[in-house]
Amino acid sequence: MFAEQRHLNDIIARLSDRVRVETLENIRYQHHQFNIECLSLGSERDDVPVIAYFGGVHGLEKIGSEVLLAYLQTLTQLLEWDQELQQRLEHLRLVFVPIINPVGVWRGTRCNGNGVDLMRNAPIESVGKTKLYSGQKISSRLPWFRGNPEAMEPEAQALCRVIRQQIKSSRLLMAVDLHSGFGIRDRLWFPYASHKTPFPNLAEAHALKQLFDDCYPHHFYQIEPMSQEYVISGDLWDYLYGELKQTHPDKLFMPLTLEMGSWQWLRKNPLHLFSRHGLFHPMLPHRQQRILRRHLTLFDFLFRAMLYPNAWAELTPEKRLQQHQQALQLWYA
Ligand SMILES: [Zn+2]
Repeated sequence: MFAEQRHLNDIIARLSDRVRVETLENIRYQHHQFNIECLSLGSERDDVPVIAYFGGVHGLEKIGSEVLLAYLQTLTQLLEWDQELQQRLEHLRLVFVPIINPVGVWRGTRCNGNGVDLMRNAPIESVGKTKLYSGQKISSRLPWFRGNPEAMEPEAQALCRVIRQQIKSSRLLMAVDLHSGFGIRDRLWFPYASHKTPFPNLAEAHALKQLFDDCYPHHFYQIEPMSQEYVISGDLWDYLYGELKQTHPDKLFMPLTLEMGSWQWLRKNPLHLFSRHGLFHPMLPHRQQRILRRHLTLFDFLFRAMLYPNAWAELTPEKRLQQHQQALQLWYA
């Protein structure tokens, strides 16, 4: 067992009967076995909004798993005494899959045990000019290998099952998928990743951004459609978004990707360039601590925004049109 898995088990034990735990999948790799665990906190009711957090899709970027474990640890302690949080959780469900790619996190690789990049594995093709990092079907020996999108990897399927399960009951579902990558800024992305056209809930994404900007004017996130930075094939979130628009047109699914800028720590310690985890993972303890607490404000904001969605997700037709036009100006002009 590896450190992140031990930490997760410890949190599950401490949460005791406050948490519901489901083993989504059992992954075999060489002589090892790994479980993918899904934790649910809060209301079990059908009609409440849901936030589903995912970490470790790219095992190398294990800081995503660690940020989620730190958030879970905070929630675990607060739930012991904070009655306001207990009450808030009666009206919302938090779902966590902190280690969706356990073999990747354990080995320190981007891909899963079969050499597949899970975020290139969905049956969805990019439009326009692509690069090697957009996904390739040449070889699992090269990075960004797409595997077989017609028979997705068990980890990717497990992620899809969680989303499909939650949308069945909830009218409002948000997914937050934590990654780290090059760049100085922390980015918060919404669809699309596979092409540069606006997605149908652009108005809601813009209204959410405006709410965040208004409430936290000094926040440090660059909020934008993912295709502003990369266009990729096989993105699981584009794939699920498209599917859910068909199967549940009356509900809102807002998938977000948090890409934590790793140059923030790389800049200060170029030695990271030469270590396996270093590029996408801060090594010095104080730097890691800073990253672990850095996103708590965002998580708290999203919690509140999902509890009271009328400010961004339940707009009048006029306000919706206005938001849509502002969004086109900002991101697509
Ligand atoms: Zn990633």
